[in-house]
Amino acid sequence: IRKWAAGLVVLALGLTGCGGDAAEVAAPDRGLVGIAMPTKQSPRWIGDGENMVAQFGLLGYDTSLQYADDDTALQVSQIQQMIDDGAKALVIGAIDGTKLTGVLAAAAAAKVPVISYDRLIRGTENIDYYATFDNFKVGVQQAGYIVQALRLARGGGPYTLELFAGSADDNNATFFFNGAMSVLQPYINDGILDVASGETSFATVATQRWDGKVAKERMARLLAGTYADERVDAVLSPYDGITRGIIEALTEGGYAPTALPVLTGQDAELDSVKLIAAGQQGQTVYKDTRELAKVAVQMVNALVTGGEPMVNDTKQYNNGVKDVPTFLLQPVTVTKDNYQRVLVDGGYYTAAEIGV
Ligand code: BGC
Repeated sequence: IRKWAAGLVVLALGLTGCGGDAAEVAAPDRGLVGIAMPTKQSPRWIGDGENMVAQFGLLGYDTSLQYADDDTALQVSQIQQMIDDGAKALVIGAIDGTKLTGVLAAAAAAKVPVISYDRLIRGTENIDYYATFDNFKVGVQQAGYIVQALRLARGGGPYTLELFAGSADDNNATFFFNGAMSVLQPYINDGILDVASGETSFATVATQRWDGKVAKERMARLLAGTYADERVDAVLSPYDGITRGIIEALTEGGYAPTALPVLTGQDAELDSVKLIAAGQQGQTVYKDTRELAKVAVQMVNALVTGGEPMVNDTKQYNNGVKDVPTFLLQPVTVTKDNYQRVLVDGGYYTAAEIGV
């Protein structure tokens, strides 16, 4: 038992940062934390939830982990239930970052602190902290891969390119897109990259609910129209599930799996890492959800124990009402060259899972 308690103290010291008394943190019952996650459609959120439940458990918290099936009304009712159940804090991965104002007013009235998890909740003063990855950098990494794979810096081109963005109601989607365009726009302006469809605005290229089927339909439409007589050389995709939809449209449209355009992604989903190993998808962005969970747990634990959560962002994420103190983690670009080292050696997947 002593060993167990010592382990908790070590963990607690690591997690509380500036605040919190380690001996106190090891106390067995710290109350309930509500964890509201958007969907199980994309596997990362399952990992996020499991990691948080485990880490909160080690610190003596009970958790209520709820998934809302990408249904905003359901997410609101799940959060209300957590407040009614006496949650000491809420960690929320929003579906639509603008639809939580009412329920977060209820959280504030009940003095329940709120951590915005991965996605920034907008339009309310009632969030306390934001834990996320550097979202702009995600887009820079995706576009950087396109530039590198097409050897644009060495005078390659011109090439055709199509753009896909994430769900317009998710604040991250704009950050990913803007980050990517900060790299791609100069090449488009110079005619080195040609978005042959002419569809370049965020609103036109956004993919509702990050849905691979929606992306597949749009890609099929582009292939039948714009690319009836021409090859698409690269496709900017913000997320692995969208990339798999795009690949389906491409292969159904006659592209050989070995001769696909340059393709990006995000989340290092297992199915997509397999495609990277097989040389079909070029790149993904790995975000270690174990680390993000640690950040959120650290924030909650500090708030509940009277400490001060650690933050590290100097640029300031503004949610339309206020600057939200933020902890940013660094995303990692993953390709065929480094997936073994980053994902297998890093313990995220086993070689057997990837099948290599
Ligand atoms: C997350 C991404 C994820 C996407 C779709 C975004 O908010 O930051 O990691 O790929 O949602 O689930």
